[in-house]
Amino acid sequence: MNRVHNFSAGPAVLPLEVLEKAQQELTNYNNMGRSVMEISHRSTEYTEIDHQAKSRLRDLLDLGTDFEIMFLQGGASSQFMMTPFNFLDENKTADYIDTGRWSAKAIKEAEIFGNVHRPFSSKESGYKRVPKNSELEFSDNPEYVHFTSNNTVAGTQFPTEPETNGVPLVCDASSDLLSRPIDASKYGLIYAGAQKNVGPAGVTIVIIRKDFLDKATTQDVPTILQYQTHAEKIFNTPPTFNAYMVNLVLEWIENKGGLSYFKKFNEEKAALVYDEIDKDDFYRGAVEKDSRSLMNITYRLPSEELEAKFLAEASEHDLYTLKGHRSVGGIRASIYNACPRESVEALVDFMKDFRDKNG
Ligand SMILES: *Cc1c(COP(=O)(O)O)cnc(C)c1O
Repeated sequence: MNRVHNFSAGPAVLPLEVLEKAQQELTNYNNMGRSVMEISHRSTEYTEIDHQAKSRLRDLLDLGTDFEIMFLQGGASSQFMMTPFNFLDENKTADYIDTGRWSAKAIKEAEIFGNVHRPFSSKESGYKRVPKNSELEFSDNPEYVHFTSNNTVAGTQFPTEPETNGVPLVCDASSDLLSRPIDASKYGLIYAGAQKNVGPAGVTIVIIRKDFLDKATTQDVPTILQYQTHAEKIFNTPPTFNAYMVNLVLEWIENKGGLSYFKKFNEEKAALVYDEIDKDDFYRGAVEKDSRSLMNITYRLPSEELEAKFLAEASEHDLYTLKGHRSVGGIRASIYNACPRESVEALVDFMKDFRDKNG
């Protein structure tokens, strides 16, 4: 069977080259007569995979030597709890920019540990936009400013890092990490579940600036939930196969030309769909134009009946998982790094055709 055009929001499409390489090495990795899944996480071979993946992340994101990188479990959702557990208490405040469903979940967890101030919220208006810097009203002395760089459900994305005047950013980058270059100097901590843009589900990438880590508390924090525990050394068995897959994806990103390549590639792919949406009022973008995501494109049709018809006919054309998140409805095309341009072109051709027949 041929592969379909896969627009899943996550777990999402992986590069075919990566899957084929993993398949090739699956039963006999590096001539060991065993797979990656069947070797010790302390072995020379796994240590090499871990080092390679971390050094590739360091290079691709231009992190320098100031950051620790860790491959943890528990998903981005565990980071909603782990970050405030390490950095907040009842006498401390963190600022959380509220731009969507995932931001709101992060806020709910942070409120268990300390004070949360919202410098901005687009909740009332249905999370249709991200803030401009001039709209951010920070508290007096926040420990950090948390933001969700790409809002997977609504389909909005910060065009660039919010300006915090030196307060370290903590970023949930689950759905756009490695889709474009970042300014690492602004971040205290970046976390991402791998399953959107970087690999399979089961590994959570955490990148933490060393001087920010120094401010973490270890008091009353269970050992495994302390960032300090995972810095510099592998504490317990990591999700080894998942980290191996991430390393293959990182190698693929490097071979393609790194993050500047993907920035352009992703901008071009998104423009194909947004141009089609903006042609007339048959398709309507679900969010404000200057907040549009390059990763998750959300739009509506004139009626829910037409949306249902659109989705049914799309799958007949091998265009899969275009249904919007259950909380917002409509259409969502997730077009992460690994989504080929051909898939986006096939979607746009189908959109044109569907408009001609139903518009
Ligand atoms: C998918 C997603 C999450 C949740 O990730 P899990 O790994 O399932 O916990 C959190 N934040 C964002 C922005 C996401 O897209």
